Amino acid sequence: MSNWDPTLSLQAWRELLVDAGWAVPSWSRQCFGRDLPAWADQVVADEIRLIGAVGQPLGSGMSLAAPTIVEHGSDELRHLILRPTLTGEKTWCQLFSEPGAGSDLAGLSTSAVLDGDEWVINGQKVWNTSAHHADYGMLVARTSWDVPKHHGVSYFILPMHQPGIEVRGIKQMNRHASFNEVFLTDARIPANHLVGTLNDGWRVARATLAHERTFSTMRRPKFVESAGKQSRAVSEAEAEAEEHFKTYVWYPQRAGRVDLVIERAQQHGVAHDLVIRQEIAALISFQRTSEWTALRARAARALGRPPGPEGSLGKLAASQVARMAHRVHTLISGANGMLTTGDHPHDATIAEVLVSTPAQSIAGGTDEIQKSIIGEKILGLARESDPSLDLPYREVARRSQ
Ligand SMILES: Cc1cc2nc3c(=O)[nH]c(=O)nc-3n(C[C@H](O)[C@H](O)[C@H](O)COP(=O)(O)OP(=O)(O)OC[C@H]3O[C@@H](n4cnc5c(N)ncnc54)[C@H](O)[C@@H]3O)c2cc1C
Repeated sequence: MSNWDPTLSLQAWRELLVDAGWAVPSWSRQCFGRDLPAWADQVVADEIRLIGAVGQPLGSGMSLAAPTIVEHGSDELRHLILRPTLTGEKTWCQLFSEPGAGSDLAGLSTSAVLDGDEWVINGQKVWNTSAHHADYGMLVARTSWDVPKHHGVSYFILPMHQPGIEVRGIKQMNRHASFNEVFLTDARIPANHLVGTLNDGWRVARATLAHERTFSTMRRPKFVESAGKQSRAVSEAEAEAEEHFKTYVWYPQRAGRVDLVIERAQQHGVAHDLVIRQEIAALISFQRTSEWTALRARAARALGRPPGPEGSLGKLAASQVARMAHRVHTLISGANGMLTTGDHPHDATIAEVLVSTPAQSIAGGTDEIQKSIIGEKILGLARESDPSLDLPYREVARRSQ
């Protein structure tokens, strides 16, 4: 940490971190790490913060794309893509869902066809968070129509800034616009941007989804003042975080704002109402116990265990907390909770909670899909029946038209 120099630019500082292997020390040396145990990542991140320096960039590049590339990418791809992701130079979005393929993601129909040394992509994606400013997309596309659906999908890194890509924002019912439709018309991907092997993209996509369900909560980084010096890297990191959180500003409301319920009950004069007290106690107890489950999962990660089906338990618990919080806020605020002007409670935050919590049980796989995963992978129940599983996808697509 003697290399920390507050006058460096954010980019220059992160390049030093990456070159020294301290950005993600548990990764291998080929992946810009130091081959240290998984627990070292948090220890090093804490030390970096304590000296007032800046660590990893925020966003799905670090949380989803980079670990997927570390696990499944070729050495060439790791070398090419990890470095600008680790420095924050390149940002990412996830291009998985389609109008006809959400829960049944393997039923996707965006196609990728090899043309010389490039893949040509045609189709439509939807609900793609941050696609309006991302540099790269994690794309799953169909590369074979003659095999069952899970066996004909490949995983690519799509450069987003090119003529064949049109990104259209979607206005949500909470008035934010954090996700998009993405139209792909003869978009191009260099042949070496395939992650994993051809037609084995389902396995790679599952790795990304497992990282998405790792109980991680998105927190705004707190920067420590750097020994009285004006720090260029810190102010650039603050600006980076500011920009990043514009997209995610409603996510605390999506999670239910449990932190507000006691204050709201006191303000509204219902803190002594017996029914409301019971509901608040049930909500806070459930949230605390689900936090312990999250801590157990984090401890497993720190021991180097890969994310597994237990992520689905955390996702389900988060949905349940959001639903319970929605109910408690409604009990406390009554019909006023719906107001966004005039006599609105808590600067209309409660109204935003009420229209944002449904998203918690959809994003990253719906509650029903998590229950199926838990049933099959944890409880060992029989696999859900799907008559299309053994058919060549070309026949399935024709039948559903
Ligand atoms: C806030 C937010 C951010 C998102 N960000 C992204 C992103 O960045 N990139 C991306 O690609 N996608 C993103 N998504 C999309 C998300 O992954 C999908 O919405 C989700 O997978 C569900 O798919 P769907 O909307 O097509 O619903 P459907 O799959 O059509 O489901 C509709 C209903 O049917 C139920 N259902 C479906 N199949 C079954 C089954 N087999 N058994 C029981 N019930 C079933 C579902 O549970 C649901 O209730 C985001 C969504 C949200 C809400």
